[in-house]
Amino acid sequence: MTTWNFSSGPAILPRSVVEKAAAAVLDFKGSGIGVLECSHRSKIYEPVVASAQARLRKLMGISDDYGVIFVQGGASQQFAQVPMNLLAATDMADYTDTGTWASKAIKEAKLFGKINVVASTKEEDGTYRSLPGMLLLTPGSKYLHITSNNTIFGTQWHEFPAAKVPLVADMSSDICSRVVDVSKFGVIYAGAQKNLGPSGVTVVIVRKDLLGKTDRQIPTMLDYRTHIENGSMFNTPPAFGIFVLDLVLEWMEEQGGVEGIQKLNDAKAAKLYAEIDRNPLFKGTVDVDVRSRMNVCFVTEKKEHEELFMKLGKSRGFVDFNGHRSVGGFRASIYNAMPEAGVDAMIEAMKDLEKTHG
Ligand code: PMP
Repeated sequence: MTTWNFSSGPAILPRSVVEKAAAAVLDFKGSGIGVLECSHRSKIYEPVVASAQARLRKLMGISDDYGVIFVQGGASQQFAQVPMNLLAATDMADYTDTGTWASKAIKEAKLFGKINVVASTKEEDGTYRSLPGMLLLTPGSKYLHITSNNTIFGTQWHEFPAAKVPLVADMSSDICSRVVDVSKFGVIYAGAQKNLGPSGVTVVIVRKDLLGKTDRQIPTMLDYRTHIENGSMFNTPPAFGIFVLDLVLEWMEEQGGVEGIQKLNDAKAAKLYAEIDRNPLFKGTVDVDVRSRMNVCFVTEKKEHEELFMKLGKSRGFVDFNGHRSVGGFRASIYNAMPEAGVDAMIEAMKDLEKTHG
């Protein structure tokens, strides 16, 4: 039986990438040693970091005005590192509160500057179902922070807010899933473990002219300039993670780049939402116009069907398709590497539940 991994992250990777990575663990480029055991300064490993950077620049259309770095600490560390690098203590920044991760970003940013929450879509029960409409930004604010895709609740900005200031985006759960105009952004950051590779490596794309404007003492390892100036090789980088990232980016090129992948993602999400809307046993949980194309959240109309669908899904090889513990129901994370056949399997299971219990 095929296993369908709907995990929200760490998540499914392209099979061909996993196979290449597995082979390199045993023998990296015929060197007789595995990639896990190889010096990051060796002749065979070092080019991997530059390759991953070059591929990402090309795939996303990132100009030389930006640094592209691979660091550790996860997206969670970026919640602090962004304001630490961009804001002086007296500076202001605008934030949107659209989900659990957005609110965590706000909490950390408050340690470094004056943070204005310009919109919150938090419901009384603590969940989030929508995204803000027009935003009233604060004059003098340095940037506007958004979470481009809210992994837990399954909402996604399909159009980014128009702002005079640079956008700063946590793109952890939708980076490289759709074409984005990077020039609108001051910073884009993402933990790799959804669309780009394994956990342990975090991608940061940062407009270089925004750096060095605070009078704050920034620890060397947390200063973006350290990693930009040293090509992500100031210290031992997350070597294996970057190696797999490079393989994932190569795979993306073979899929027709971000444009090609976006078409597949749109088609996958459209057919899954169509079934959620058609099938009388299921319903979506967020406003239709902001539905995520990465994390498709839904519940059963009747509570008694929830356990039945859980059992049915497990019997069909579905893994981690339950909703986040704070939400319940179901969440099918259908990142770039999820083949359309996985979405079809989910739809078939929904149809089969309808046949037996509809
Ligand atoms: N932001 C978003 C949108 C996420 O989905 C996650 C992880 N699920 C995080 C931040 C936190 O990432 P990390 O675990 O890499 O710190």
